[in-house]
Amino acid sequence: MKGRAFEVNEKYLRQIIFPLWGEELQEKLKSTKVLLVGGGALGSFLLQGLVRAGVGFVRVVDRDFSSIDNLHRHAFMEEEEAKSGKIKVKIMEEKARRINTDTKIETCFGDFHYLNALSLAQGVDCIIDATDNLETRYLINEVAIKEGVPWIYGSVVGSQGMSMAILPGESACFSCFLPSPPSPGMLETCERVGIINSVVMIISGIQLTLFYRLIKGEERGGNLFAVDAWEGKFRKIKVKRGEECPACQKKEFTFLQGRFSTLTTLCGRNAVQVVFPEQQKFDLDIYKNKLKRRGKLEERGGYLVWEIEGNIFYLFPDARVMVKGTEDKVKARNLISRYLGI
Ligand SMILES: [Zn+2]
Repeated sequence: MKGRAFEVNEKYLRQIIFPLWGEELQEKLKSTKVLLVGGGALGSFLLQGLVRAGVGFVRVVDRDFSSIDNLHRHAFMEEEEAKSGKIKVKIMEEKARRINTDTKIETCFGDFHYLNALSLAQGVDCIIDATDNLETRYLINEVAIKEGVPWIYGSVVGSQGMSMAILPGESACFSCFLPSPPSPGMLETCERVGIINSVVMIISGIQLTLFYRLIKGEERGGNLFAVDAWEGKFRKIKVKRGEECPACQKKEFTFLQGRFSTLTTLCGRNAVQVVFPEQQKFDLDIYKNKLKRRGKLEERGGYLVWEIEGNIFYLFPDARVMVKGTEDKVKARNLISRYLGI
């Protein structure tokens, strides 16, 4: 390597000389466009990895603001920024630009939902999941199948995490793996059982590796990686394609058609009400067992009131949640994702 070629490649030299990477993958990455959905813990480590590796374009979507409890698990956030309640994607954009000018970063501050999902995924080569809720993952799955774009699932909670590459038409999709969402309340959330940063790094690391293999053309998808960082357990499970899968076999895109929660501000009551789709009726007994471990839980004739860290949630069995103390829909939706995992 001489002259200009040497200068250009020096930045990435130590990954290029890794035999399975090479100049070829480096060139491919330069022209690769990624949609990263989520700018929290996983999203931050993923973006850092993508930018440092020399990926040409990353579009990041996130609806949240920084808070001090993000600090331990966010790759870009400094203490003052964490306290200041800045828009997360803005923090990430500024820092990522300084890390490597080769990557073009585009940020979108808002929700990834059924009305904008297709346009946000327009023209990308891969979608990487860093969301905190299942509703969005089913939506990403449908977008990926409809557009024929591969995507990489990732989730973390406590010391556990999972990841899988999904290649539409070739490997099992997210609905093959999880045909229907578990009953609301069954899933743990980072707010209830916590999260340690080491598992975030492991899962984002697996996601990045799957992404590099995918761009190289070596990844065939369908292997679920399940990790418990604390216990030191690592499993690789083959997920088969479901013959009757509504998403990848029957192409029934219910989430893209709006099988989504609806949000209403209850004016004058300083509250936002979220109504979930019919299929997600709440089993209040399941919630009772989960929620009583933290905060203050009260059962009031047929519904639950849960107060935690200054937030008050009213849970009704007909798949409704009311968040008291705000009229901001985005904030209310964030709080429900964080604390209730739906
Ligand atoms: Zn499927």
